[in-house]
Amino acid sequence: MSDQKMTNPETIALHAGWRSDPSTGSVAVPIHQTTSFQFDSTEHAADLFALKQLGNIYTRIMNPTVDVLEKRIAALEGGVAALAVASGQAATTMSVLNLCQAGDNIVSSTDLYGGTWNLFANTFKQFGIEVRFVDPENPDNFAAATDAKTRCYYAETLPNPKLQVFPIAEVAAIGRRLGVPLIMDNTAAPILCRPLAHGAAVVMHSTTKFIGGHGTSIGGMIVDGGNFDWEKHGERFPLLTTPDPSYHGAVWTEAVKPLGPIAYIIRARVVMQRDLGAPMSPFNAFLFLQGLETLPLRMERHCANALKVASFLANHPQVTRVIHPSLQEGTARARADAHLRGGYGALMGFELAGGAEAGKRFIDSLRMIYHVANIGDARTLAIHPASTTHSQLSAKEQAATGVTPGYVRLSIGIEHIDDIIGDLSQALDAATSRKKAAE
Ligand code: PLP
Repeated sequence: MSDQKMTNPETIALHAGWRSDPSTGSVAVPIHQTTSFQFDSTEHAADLFALKQLGNIYTRIMNPTVDVLEKRIAALEGGVAALAVASGQAATTMSVLNLCQAGDNIVSSTDLYGGTWNLFANTFKQFGIEVRFVDPENPDNFAAATDAKTRCYYAETLPNPKLQVFPIAEVAAIGRRLGVPLIMDNTAAPILCRPLAHGAAVVMHSTTKFIGGHGTSIGGMIVDGGNFDWEKHGERFPLLTTPDPSYHGAVWTEAVKPLGPIAYIIRARVVMQRDLGAPMSPFNAFLFLQGLETLPLRMERHCANALKVASFLANHPQVTRVIHPSLQEGTARARADAHLRGGYGALMGFELAGGAEAGKRFIDSLRMIYHVANIGDARTLAIHPASTTHSQLSAKEQAATGVTPGYVRLSIGIEHIDDIIGDLSQALDAATSRKKAAE
């Protein structure tokens, strides 16, 4: 079955990019735990280095095990090619630095993972890159913040804690009019959303989350949609459209033309990955391939369980507010319905009547549910963002990203629903009765 014929995610997740090992017949993708690859001849080596021929040189730049994962996730997202990296953070960093130099700016949604916020608000300043944060509630905010030095827009499909789906189609359309590509972090909504189909140019993932699914490995992925005309807006993208002194003056948009619309991802690989050096390990790629095989099935169960938990919490007398797309109305719900297929995701937030103290007591009372700084595990997870994941942000920044002092975040797993609700229920009771005892 060729990759072209595969359109269903359930099939792509199992088959894209690999059939069997030509030398051994191995059906499982072998772990090529090697740093380097033997060249056939000096001419072969020279051709590989000159990109006259694509092939394996050194595992920092490419590796056959990692290559299968890259092909599979590119196929799932409907992109043309992908680059695996060591973490979601590395994916965000490289996806943006691949287009930006000192003096440039990007426009980002305020609704971001705390680590991305720090990278954008603080560390990118070190590199002379300005990040202009705008409220995604009104997509026109992106147009208003754009100038001649704007190199990309950046946002998350389903950002926690607000869990309001980003207006991908609207902002991508604005970007295409102004010549600015939209990079989407699709970590929280694999399978449910395909941002490239809504007009995004690049998708990134922290594969650490749902794709891995079992809490074993840190990894990231950048997928090139191959659908953005870099040359048409060439003045915005000198890194892709003018000679690269680090590669004998190659102009990436021209050099890769015979290979397809992959200028962005080739530069990410042979310049960003070569120089910044944050590759995914082959062993982790193998584990992500294992996770990917069951991702469509797991997402179904994650979403079905989350719907039931949202309804349980919404009807609980001690819960004052539940945040989940299934409970949203108006524009937020319309955006969720326009962009998500097959469910509203596994992430959820809620607040207890007793505020921050009750929230902490609730977390300390959990028995089965894990208290960890992660999302997207097969197990149900909980955390108090204000004192953990978002603690490095100021109170004002926390409020801008939607973190209130009493907010508890849940990542609903694939356990039996009765056991999830049973643990939540006893922890809610414990949090409340301890509060009563203290009064
Ligand atoms: N993007 C999102 C939405 C995340 O939740 C995370 C991590 O929590 C990241 C990116 C960063 O990924 P990693 O932890 O793999 O570096």
